[in-house]
Amino acid sequence: MRTVYVNGEFVPEDEAKVSIFDRGFLFADGVYEVTTVLDRKLVDFFGHRARLRRSLGELNIVLDLTDEQLLDIHRQLIAANDLDEGIIYLQVTRGAADRDFVFPPEDTPVTTVLFTQAYSVIDNPLAQRGAKVVSVDDKRWSRCDIKTVQLLYPSLAKMEARSKGADDAWLVRDGLVTEGSSNNAYIVTRDGTIVTRDLSNLILHGITRRAVLECARNLQMKVEERPFTIEEAQGAREAFSTSASGFVSPVVQIDGKPIGDGSVGSVARQLREVYIAEMRKSAI
Ligand code: PMP
Repeated sequence: MRTVYVNGEFVPEDEAKVSIFDRGFLFADGVYEVTTVLDRKLVDFFGHRARLRRSLGELNIVLDLTDEQLLDIHRQLIAANDLDEGIIYLQVTRGAADRDFVFPPEDTPVTTVLFTQAYSVIDNPLAQRGAKVVSVDDKRWSRCDIKTVQLLYPSLAKMEARSKGADDAWLVRDGLVTEGSSNNAYIVTRDGTIVTRDLSNLILHGITRRAVLECARNLQMKVEERPFTIEEAQGAREAFSTSASGFVSPVVQIDGKPIGDGSVGSVARQLREVYIAEMRKSAI
């Protein structure tokens, strides 16, 4: 049985309790982070912690934990669960109060929950065969830069993809790809340029995105941060996605059309290798 963290305590998972009045439960009034664990160490922890602080700030949720305490809780969970490889999920909500659209008083304690999920991040069959994606209307709200727990629409989009025999959905707003259901989306043009949507309120500012673009620039690859269409993606040489839990994941088909020759592309493969090597070095 896992040991999880709830509001200051480490407890067995079946003893962890959160109020039915929690605003995370009633209003999706909360934010989260997912940090990958590799070799029992945290990948890009400072990036995830900084984004957590930003998400909380945008929603005026005041977390009662210091930076050091956040790191310490993550490390204690790795130790308590003997976690070699997987993820640590963290969620902070505005806490429990009578149901009201108006926020509760500022001294209402927030709810903080962390748990581990063990799985093989490196040995991922999708990284071998590449994902099939379908395009789905991006019907999310317009603050996708805040990592809130309102994940119903991305979940519906992913289910739509599954029902069409695909692995994932790429979201399209005003004719342009924003991002994947739970990842950032990229194409590699015929001349070898990596293209991914520029940062705005319409996408999550991926921590993996930032690290992977840095790897690409260090490898002298050309990077353009701009929108692209599904048609441009279908005519590209390759496509891929990035996320903390998926690293760099090749995409080999979009809306039934093979990308390039329909097999995993060399840029995606190389970036995945380089990114994993860099993260193994810098994990803490
Ligand atoms: N976009 C969305 C919508 C996501 O849910 C995620 C993963 N949480 C990402 C992008 C990738 O972000 P990161 O690299 O920080 O995991």
